[in-house]
Amino acid sequence: AKRTGRGRTAEATLTLQLLHARRTCLVEALRTATADGSLSLLFQPIVSAHTCRPEAYEALLRWRCAGMGPISPVEFIPLAEDTGQICAIGHWVLQTACRQAAAWPAGPEGQAPKVAVNTSLRQLLQADFAGEVRQALAQAGLAPQRLVVEVTESVFNEGDIDRVLATLLALRQMGIEVHVDDFGTGYSSLSRLHEFPLTAVKVDKSFVLTADERALAVIEGTVLIARRFGLRVIAEGVETAEQARVLARLGVDELQGYYFGRPAPLPVACGSAEALPLP
Ligand code: C2E
Ligand code: CA
Ligand code: CA
Ligand code: CA
Repeated sequence: AKRTGRGRTAEATLTLQLLHARRTCLVEALRTATADGSLSLLFQPIVSAHTCRPEAYEALLRWRCAGMGPISPVEFIPLAEDTGQICAIGHWVLQTACRQAAAWPAGPEGQAPKVAVNTSLRQLLQADFAGEVRQALAQAGLAPQRLVVEVTESVFNEGDIDRVLATLLALRQMGIEVHVDDFGTGYSSLSRLHEFPLTAVKVDKSFVLTADERALAVIEGTVLIARRFGLRVIAEGVETAEQARVLARLGVDELQGYYFGRPAPLPVACGSAEALPLP
């Protein structure tokens, strides 16, 4: 039966009310998340395209909300960004990731893999983010050279650019790496890469997964410009051996994706610098 105009309006109103109720519930539950044990980290390897050994593991946040079960970060991170809760949550992620990484065993080449931590713009704009990072490293006993701060392309468009720059510079001066995440999805241009104190560019997984002519051109262009500015290129979303081969041939330095390993809890004892299956 065809719904009347009024029926449809009532339905839409109900949907909005439900969405609003869900949001209110989640925001309320998030307030205690850093203290009630409902947050955890998974780690996904980022391997060298040459040796297939993990150079780093990216920390990916998981939340099992007491009332509503597992909630995707794609849903709760934007909420936490809106409310400002992301600063407390990000602090928990930073501390936890540093503490876990400090226990990873060294690889055959000496250094243990790095740990990459996703960082929201709101965290970068805090009064003393660099100080917070310094403290987390000291408490965990982790060398700054083993920490990667991943920031999204949105930092390029932040109004208070001087503040962002000062924070990123302070991190770099401590020896911490700074990577731009989701590169190619925003409106920033390749030509702005050199204005920021970065160490690597992470090509967004949409380009890897599409891999059509246009996507490959974007990756190729990114490699060219990144090289010129002395930056490494990382590709995420690598699901097949064929994709890994194509990306390595294009000059991408590091690879991340289900082909090399899904995000997983990382047992401290596992030899985390072992080479992963060669493509
Ligand atoms: P991201 O930083 O771009 O992380 C990569 C996402 O791609 C992860 O999703 C990962 O599980 C997924 N992925 C990895 N390999 C593959 C692959 O081969 N194929 C496909 N299709 N996907 C792959 P996840 O864990 O759901 O995280 C989603 C987003 O949530 C992250 O995207 C990041 O923006 C955000 N996020 C996660 N943890 C944190 C955190 O601690 N802090 C902040 N601020 N954001 C976080
Ligand atoms: Ca990331
Ligand atoms: Ca990404
Ligand atoms: Ca993303």
